[in-house]
Amino acid sequence: MTETMYVVIPCYNEEQMLPITAEALIKKFDKLKAEGRIAQNSKVMFVDDGSKDKTWEIIQKLHEASPVFTGLKLSRNKGHQNALLAGLMTARNYADIVVSMDADLQDDINAIDGFLDKRAEGCDIVYGVRSSREKDTAFKRGTAQAYYKLLEHMGVEITYNHADYRLMSKRAIDALAEFKEVNLFLRGLVPMVGFKSDIVKYVRNERVAGESKYPLKKMLSFAVEGITSLSVKPIRFITTIGIIVFLVSLIMLIYFLITWAVGHTVQGWASTITSIWAIGGLQLLAIGIIGEYIGKIYLETKARPKFIIETNLEETDKE
Ligand code: UDP
Ligand code: MG
Repeated sequence: MTETMYVVIPCYNEEQMLPITAEALIKKFDKLKAEGRIAQNSKVMFVDDGSKDKTWEIIQKLHEASPVFTGLKLSRNKGHQNALLAGLMTARNYADIVVSMDADLQDDINAIDGFLDKRAEGCDIVYGVRSSREKDTAFKRGTAQAYYKLLEHMGVEITYNHADYRLMSKRAIDALAEFKEVNLFLRGLVPMVGFKSDIVKYVRNERVAGESKYPLKKMLSFAVEGITSLSVKPIRFITTIGIIVFLVSLIMLIYFLITWAVGHTVQGWASTITSIWAIGGLQLLAIGIIGEYIGKIYLETKARPKFIIETNLEETDKE
C-alpha cells in the first residue's frame, strides 16, 4: 500500500533556505516515488508564516515550476507552532501521512525512510529523535537537557531530543484536531493522542543558511509555555512551600516563646526584616505563578483562531 505523503514545512523569512531545501526534497521525493514507497501525488507543503521577505514569492515560483511543491500562506506571523498546526490541519485533507519538519534542513531528510519503515509496521506516529546534538551549542544542549528533566518532573510525557520532526497518520492528526487549546505546545500534545508510535534516530545538522528564529527570549517563553500548558504542578508546588514556611514559622514561635519564658528578650531587627522580605518574595512568586495560569485561562476562553489562511495553493489550482 503506497500512501500519499505530505511534508509540511513552516517558513518564516526563509528566502535563503527555501531553494536549498526544495532541491534536497525534490531529490528525496523522486527517489521515494521511484522506489514505490510514497504515492505519485505526494507533495511538499510550505507554510509561509507571514514572512517579511520574499519567502511567499519563492514558494509560488516553486509551485509553478513543479507540482511537487504546494503552499499555504497565513494572514500574518503566528509563530512556528501555529504555522505547523495550520499545515497539519490543511495537509490532512489531501494526504494519508504527514511529515513535519523545519525549513533549515537541520533535520536529516534521510530519516524519512525510517519513518516510512515504522509506518509500514503500523505506527500512526513516528518521532524523529536526535541521536547527537554535537552541532548545537553547549548552552542549547545543556538547557534543553535540563528542561526535559524539569518537564518529566512536572509529570509531562515528552520524548527526549525530539523537536517537531515527526510523521503522523491522517487519523492521528484528526485526533490532534480535537485538542482545542489555543496555547500550543505540540510536542507535548502529540503523545496524548495515543496510537502505536515509535522513534527514529538521526543526526541533527547545523542550520545551512539564514539564522535561527528562536533567540533566547523566545526559547524561554516557549519553555514556560510548555510547562504551564501541560502541567498544574507549579501551583501545587506553591501549596507545598506554603505549608513548609508555615511549619518553620511555628517552630520559630515556639523558640521565641521559650526564650521569652526564660527571661531573654528576643533581639531582632535583622530577623524581622529578613522574614518580611523572604515571605514577601514568596508571595509575589506565588501570585506570579497563579497569574501565569489565569492569563492562560483568559486567552483560552476567548478561543481566538490559532491561524488564518490567506491562500491555499491546493485550492487556487482548482479554481
Ligand atoms: N518559524 C516559523 N515562524 C516563526 C519562527 C520560525 O514558521 O515565527 C519556522 C522557521 O522558518 C523554521 C522553523 O520554524 O522552519 C524552526 O525555526 P528555527 O530553525 O529558526 O529554530 P531553531 O532550529 O533555531 O530552534
Ligand atoms: Mg532550526
